[in-house]
Amino acid sequence: MSSGRPCRPARGSQVTSRVTEIFARDAYARSVEARVLEVSTVDGSPLLVLDTTVLYPGGGGQPADRGVVLRAADGRAWTVRAAKRVGGELVHELEAPEDGELPVRGDRVHVDLAWARRFALMRTHTALHALCGVVWRDYQALVTGGNMEPGAGRMDFEFERMSGDLVGEIEEKVNTELRAARDVRVNVLPRAEAFAIPDLIRTKVNLLPPGIEQIRTIEIVGLDLQADGGTHVANTHEVGQIRVTGYESKGRINKRIRVALVDAQAAPAAPST
Ligand SMILES: [Zn+2]
Repeated sequence: MSSGRPCRPARGSQVTSRVTEIFARDAYARSVEARVLEVSTVDGSPLLVLDTTVLYPGGGGQPADRGVVLRAADGRAWTVRAAKRVGGELVHELEAPEDGELPVRGDRVHVDLAWARRFALMRTHTALHALCGVVWRDYQALVTGGNMEPGAGRMDFEFERMSGDLVGEIEEKVNTELRAARDVRVNVLPRAEAFAIPDLIRTKVNLLPPGIEQIRTIEIVGLDLQADGGTHVANTHEVGQIRVTGYESKGRINKRIRVALVDAQAAPAAPST
């Protein structure tokens, strides 16, 4: 998975897209009934466009969702390897079935999200925003990048005076904020209104292409507000606690902090990139 800037807003394509992207307003929706709009095969991978979906296509450091599509008429199931954006439109990349049979346009299907993995990603993503919030509030350090997998993630900061000691202090502060049971809110703001929020600039919202009229934001009430396209838990108590699993200096100014959810299963260390 490539390194992405964290907390990057969603592309502005939802406005004109044929696809209703339920995850953008309801991260807890696990399934939905949908109609097949289009079926194609690109490089051997079947691609499915549905009129609605609960699967997040990835972005802002959060990996794409996986799931299953079940045809209503006969219960035939296809595994969704990943949701992704192709030319601005959200598509479902299927595992090619051995018998070659694919859904056809007009089929009614039931879309099921691989929930345990997604919920771990929601908790991880919110934990990373809490980390961003603490580091910005108390040390005024800018985020430069980040990435996550279910249960663990990393963030890079422009943070010259960061040290191993400070990292322990940051871990404590983040856990205090998570225990404070802060609500996490999704808002969609007109561009001008979003630009008027000074702190949003640290997430480089000012680099958005001019065509995007709506900015989606994630607010950890009382701690953090960022332009963001990802999926989050509704309250920080759902994250539980985190621990800092690594700290690396990537140069004089650039520092990387790795965190994991305390109750997450041990994940293999991500390659240092
Ligand atoms: Zn984010």
